[in-house]
Amino acid sequence: MTPEFDGLVAIVTGGASGIGRAVAEELTARGARVAVLDLKDTEFACDVTDDVAVRAAVTAVAEAYGRIDVLVNNAGIGALGTVADNDDAEWLRVLDVNVVGVARVSRAALPHLRRSPHAAIVNTCSIAATAGLPQRALYSASKGAVLALTRAMAADHIREGIRVNCVTPGTVDTPWVGRLLGSAPDPQAERAALAARQPHGRLVTPEEVAHAVAYLASPRAGSTTGVELAVDGGMSGLRPRPV
Ligand code: NAD
Repeated sequence: MTPEFDGLVAIVTGGASGIGRAVAEELTARGARVAVLDLKDTEFACDVTDDVAVRAAVTAVAEAYGRIDVLVNNAGIGALGTVADNDDAEWLRVLDVNVVGVARVSRAALPHLRRSPHAAIVNTCSIAATAGLPQRALYSASKGAVLALTRAMAADHIREGIRVNCVTPGTVDTPWVGRLLGSAPDPQAERAALAARQPHGRLVTPEEVAHAVAYLASPRAGSTTGVELAVDGGMSGLRPRPV
C-alpha cells in the first residue's frame, strides 16, 4: 500500500523535542519528507520569533524539497503564574513564540501551501485554551489565541483548499514536563501524583498526540477543518470520578 504522505513535504516547528519530534517521526514513517524548524541544532535552524529567519527557512525547505504540503505549528514555550506574576516583557515574549510564531510561519508557508492539492496546517494548542487551569494565565491566553487563530485561518483559507485544525493535548510526557517535575522536591512522587490526577491515570504520550496530528494533516481528513482534536486522556470530556 502507498504510504498516505507519499510525495508530500511537511514542516514541523519545534520538531527537535517532545511532541514535535514524535510528529516528525510519525509523518516520516507515513511517507512524508519532513523538515524540522527549531531553535536547536536542526537542518533548518530557526527561531519562530524572527521573521527574516522564518522566511529564509521556509524558502530553504521549498527549494530543498520542491514543495510544502503540510505545516505543523508546534513550537511553544510555557509560563507559570497568575496574571499578576508575569510582567509585560514576559507576556510579549510568550505571545511572540506561541501566537505570533504560528502566524509568522503560516504567512511564510501559505504561498507554497496554496500550490498543494493536499494542503493542511495543524497547530499544537492545549486544553489550557479552554480549561481554566490555575497558575497558567499567560500560557492559557496564548493557547486560547491559537484556538481562535486556528478557526479564523480555517475560514479564511477553506476555498484555497487549505485545511487548518489543531490538537489540544492534556499533560504530555515530554522534556517540558520533565523540567517542571525536576524542580519539585521529589520528582518521582510528583510524577506519580500528576499521573494519578489524569482521568485515565497516566500521562499522554507524545506518540498519541503525533497520531492525532498525522490524521488531521492527512488527505484522509479532507473534509475536516476548523476543529480541535483533544488528546487529553478524557480531561476535557469527562466528569471527575465520583468518590
Ligand atoms: P518541548 O520543550 O519538549 O519541545 C518544544 C520544542 O520547541 C523544543 O525543541 C524547542 O527548542 C522548540 N522551540 C521553543 N521555542 C522556539 C522558537 N522560538 N523557535 C523555534 N523552536 C522553538 O515541549 P513539548 O512539551 O513537546 O511542547 C510542544 C508543544 O506542545 C508546545 O506548543 C506546547 O505548548 C504544547 N503542549 C504541550 C503539552 C505538554 O504537556 N507537554 C501539553 C499541551 C500542549
